Amino acid sequence: MGMLKMSARSNGVSVFVRTRPSVNFAQDLIEYLPDQKTINIHMKKDTRNVVNNQQSDWAFKMDGVLHNVSQSHVYDMTAKNVVLRALDGYNGTVMCYGQTGAGKTYTMTGATENYKQRGIIPRALQQIFRETEERSEQAFTVWISFLEIYNETLFDLLSTLPDADSRDSQMTIVDDGNGVRVKGLSVHLTNNEEEALNLLFEGETNRIIASHALNKNSSRSHCILTVYIESRSRTLSNAKYVTSKLNLVDLAGSERLGKTGSEGQVLREAMYINKSLSFLEQAIIALADHRRDHIPFRQSKLTYALKDSLGGNCNTVLVANIYEEAAQIEETLSTLRFATRMKCVQTEPAVNEHIDPVLQVKKLEMEIRQLKNELAIHDSLANRSLVSYDAMSDTQIADINFQVHRYLEGTTDEIEIVNIRQIQEVFAQFKVVLHQQEQEIEAKIRQKYTLIDRSDSAAIAAAVKAGHPVDMVGEVDGQGFGIGVAPSAAKHGGSSIISAKKAKIKKGKEMISPGRKDGLVSPGDGKEVEMGSLSKMYQLVSSTKDLESKEHDVHSIESHRSESACKDDHSRPNSPPPKSEAFEDFKSERGSEINRILKENKSILLEKRKKVKELMDIINYTKEEIDSTKQALLAKKQDRQLQGEYVNEEGETVIDEEEFDLIMKLKELKACYRSNYDELRNTKAEDQYCQRLVEQCRSRLLREFESWYNESYLIPEEVQNALRDRGSIRPGMMPLNRVLALEEDEQERFERLHQELLSSSPGSISFYNAHMRTQQRKHYFRAMSQAQPQRKTARVIIPQVKNKPPSILLSS
Ligand code: ADP
Ligand code: MG
Repeated sequence: MGMLKMSARSNGVSVFVRTRPSVNFAQDLIEYLPDQKTINIHMKKDTRNVVNNQQSDWAFKMDGVLHNVSQSHVYDMTAKNVVLRALDGYNGTVMCYGQTGAGKTYTMTGATENYKQRGIIPRALQQIFRETEERSEQAFTVWISFLEIYNETLFDLLSTLPDADSRDSQMTIVDDGNGVRVKGLSVHLTNNEEEALNLLFEGETNRIIASHALNKNSSRSHCILTVYIESRSRTLSNAKYVTSKLNLVDLAGSERLGKTGSEGQVLREAMYINKSLSFLEQAIIALADHRRDHIPFRQSKLTYALKDSLGGNCNTVLVANIYEEAAQIEETLSTLRFATRMKCVQTEPAVNEHIDPVLQVKKLEMEIRQLKNELAIHDSLANRSLVSYDAMSDTQIADINFQVHRYLEGTTDEIEIVNIRQIQEVFAQFKVVLHQQEQEIEAKIRQKYTLIDRSDSAAIAAAVKAGHPVDMVGEVDGQGFGIGVAPSAAKHGGSSIISAKKAKIKKGKEMISPGRKDGLVSPGDGKEVEMGSLSKMYQLVSSTKDLESKEHDVHSIESHRSESACKDDHSRPNSPPPKSEAFEDFKSERGSEINRILKENKSILLEKRKKVKELMDIINYTKEEIDSTKQALLAKKQDRQLQGEYVNEEGETVIDEEEFDLIMKLKELKACYRSNYDELRNTKAEDQYCQRLVEQCRSRLLREFESWYNESYLIPEEVQNALRDRGSIRPGMMPLNRVLALEEDEQERFERLHQELLSSSPGSISFYNAHMRTQQRKHYFRAMSQAQPQRKTARVIIPQVKNKPPSILLSS
């Protein structure tokens, strides 16, 4: 039972009734039940004004009825826990409500001249400082403010103190998300109980002085003494700290306007009091109603100031002060009703926890230090002695840069992985080196050539006019930049100056095909190097003074020449071999491994194809058999029906042996069909898989070949040298456009197409066969036109084979 009540109390506002003892106790009207929680009110029937349905008996159940008890007992029952919880970081409010003279001030402040009769506030202050001394692991800081609200005006009861700097400023209540506070209200740091009590008495005195000076009735104002508590762990590493606010509230008298019969200032005061108390009541009704999400706190200064102290995350206690006399019974009843409403307000007390950013940083720094130490231990256990987890120094970065250079040169095979930071730096240095190389190449080229922006037609025209040979080089899909080498025609004094338009070459792969249809291309235009990441497109103009010395190079790297356009072709020893020839060389040398795998995969693919074909044949045959068997059965049946059926005793149709055999055969055929069909499906899947492998191998082979071919024949020697100085040209680093389309073997392609068609629509096979033949014819002519006699270059650069192609294995 007790437990239940405790939990009920912690979920709502705790409400107590305290009585002011009287010699004229209205024992007929007021009844205290022995449970010390219930108070019954019995109203005498008003004989002058009989109303039948008027209720005359009430029972009010509270958390406690404090009748004839000591101040100490009142404190223990009402405030003690709230204060303890405030020290733990929960906001708390203890509030006295009741008509003037019912004992609110006596309960809250008590008799200031009598220690034994001191009230809740001095006892709370005492408990706070005693507790803070006991909780030695925490460092507490306590501040106090004392606010009076009179006729909707805020007064700072501690403003006369020297450190109250806000005397002149207008006080306002603000809600800045961290709770409500009164801007301009002085808040006083308090080190011990005595200092705190001084503040309380100072405030009380100010209250009395002000009431005389302003001719106001002090029982008509609300007083809120607030204790602010901050608690931090004495452990420096703990960045968390908690704060709380304890409001001790002595409300103005709750007596109703009608009864006081006041006028003038008294009337106005009464109006304000009534207003703010009725707003308090409205706020409380709203708080008690779970469906309401808007609480009208801002209707009055009182409710606004108490916004975060009435419900919500606050421990709230209400003490309802009542007279015991018959004359006050109506006010008593009204006070008890208010108390009952207050009891319905739900609260969810929560600790106000904060994190100190400065301490948090310190704490994290310490944690990082510890983790680094731990990593160091791990590293030493793993025999990795020189690992640092700090940011890279310039020396370390330079070292990584050096390693990257060595790696690109091929003087080292791998860069050892140390940690994530180092890996990231390695990537960064790759970028740096790449960028450097691009710039160096461009600089080298610029030494020999004048580069004109491709789009700068005026500059091109000027160059042409000045008699420079202009060589327009391949347009590489709108990106990258082509390097052309000046045509030798300049030397021959031929008409080598060509317009950019004429020289425009559509695709890299056309460059080595001899004998252009349009015949407009200048001889010697065939060298093309795609510099992938150089962003500008340039046109190259060789300066005449360079021409003679460059002539040899030009010849050596020219890819092809048109016989008709250049008569002294044979004098040039260094034209690259046709790709078809080079490809054969490649396959037997550097590309042998990948070529072998390709061949292997091809043969496996071929087997699969053969099997597919076989299965298809079987299936087709079975299908035909099924059809003819069905036909035969149908004929049998018709026969049977024509001749009249034999029916045995059980009424079953009797069939002859021949028909029976046919039925069995059909059954077998169907089973055969199904099993072969399943196998076909599986084999086809394997076939497709092999097909992909073959394609992969083939494109790998072609890629490797491209790099090899480019490096061996197409990259101008000076560029090669420029790159070789750094030693960092690698296969695949400077991919040329595909110059030659090494197409998939036509027969294979046909086979594949055939496979695809075979099962779906056999009727279309002839169409596709015809299509295939046309393709083959086209291909043949293209191959013939490329097969012009070419001399193989004398200068063959064999690049280092750094990357062996990975073996592609078939899972059978
Ligand atoms: P309020 O603040 O509600 O107007 P006070 O606290 O000023 O009322 O009480 C009015 C008078 O009644 C005071 O003289 C006070 O000492 C006395 N009094 C109130 N309650 C008690 C009580 N429980 N025991 C003894 N005296 C009381
Ligand atoms: Mg009072």
